[in-house]
Amino acid sequence: MKPVLYMVIPCYNEEEVLPVTVPEFLGKLRALIESGKISEQSRLLFVNDGSSDSTWEIIKKLSEKQAYIEGISLSRNRGHQNALIAGLEEAQDKCDITISLDCDGQDDINAVDKMIDEYLSGSEIVYGVRSNRDNDSFLKKNTAKLFYRLMSFMGAELIYDHADFRLVSSKVLKSFSSFKEVNIFLRGMFPLVGFRSTCVYYERKKRIAGKSKYSPAKMTALALDGITSLSVKPIRIITLFGCLVALLSFVGILWSVIVQLTGNSVAGWASITSILCFLGGVQLISLGIIGEYIGKIYLETKGRPRYIIEEKTDSD
Ligand code: UDP
Ligand code: MG
Repeated sequence: MKPVLYMVIPCYNEEEVLPVTVPEFLGKLRALIESGKISEQSRLLFVNDGSSDSTWEIIKKLSEKQAYIEGISLSRNRGHQNALIAGLEEAQDKCDITISLDCDGQDDINAVDKMIDEYLSGSEIVYGVRSNRDNDSFLKKNTAKLFYRLMSFMGAELIYDHADFRLVSSKVLKSFSSFKEVNIFLRGMFPLVGFRSTCVYYERKKRIAGKSKYSPAKMTALALDGITSLSVKPIRIITLFGCLVALLSFVGILWSVIVQLTGNSVAGWASITSILCFLGGVQLISLGIIGEYIGKIYLETKGRPRYIIEEKTDSD
């Protein structure tokens, strides 16, 4: 039996990009069907992530003309990760495999063939890994490197240079649905699910049109979300640091008693001020880190939905 493939493509204000990339995606889907690799039932599933431009109108029009195109529209902008999971959950009962990819042409559509081959030879998850970062700006290259280093130091299992270009079988997605958390960081969560997996390397291209929808603030939030949803190591580091400071304070106390007893005590303004400032800083940072986790618990206990689907294109 040929597998049914759903390509899940999140879109946020991408009216400039879609007219260029959709024909490419469609061409690939058709070629795969014609070559007999995937079933005729395979589809492109676009997720409109609350765009304020004409993205949804474009998707709807395309789906009317093209049987291979489906779309869902979220009730508001929920961010890339939530848009992705919305698409994956929509697809999981209709297909055997999903491939998630960006709509801006950066994920190489030609790597899809290799991904399907890997699935056919037994892998349930295939991670698209970029072979180089030549097209990235200096800032993005280095912040990305720092991020992966930091994540690995924090003990989070991430595939180096893998973002969200990934083949996942519906079998894995069904197991994944028992991961109930609201704050999601998919690239760090799929390795936790297990199953047989492998990597496929591809060259990441430049964005075809429009601007990146990841501002530095969004990127920082994603990195923070990644760390706090995968690891409690920052809290452990605080504890360790607390122990170290306590040890130092003990030495400090001893020293001050000795100075007092030997009658050498003088007004120590500078030392007291610097110790106070140092400890004040350490305490505030520690509170901030603990606060991040408490914030996460707060959001998780509310259990609000990750997304709400407002509209779907007619798939039948
Ligand atoms: N995206 C989304 N919701 C958002 C931000 C981005 O669905 O709030 C989509 C976007 O349309 C694109 C993908 O996520 O298909 C990756 O975004 P982008 O290309 O802007 O990020 P970059 O490649 O610059 O990291
Ligand atoms: Mg992009």
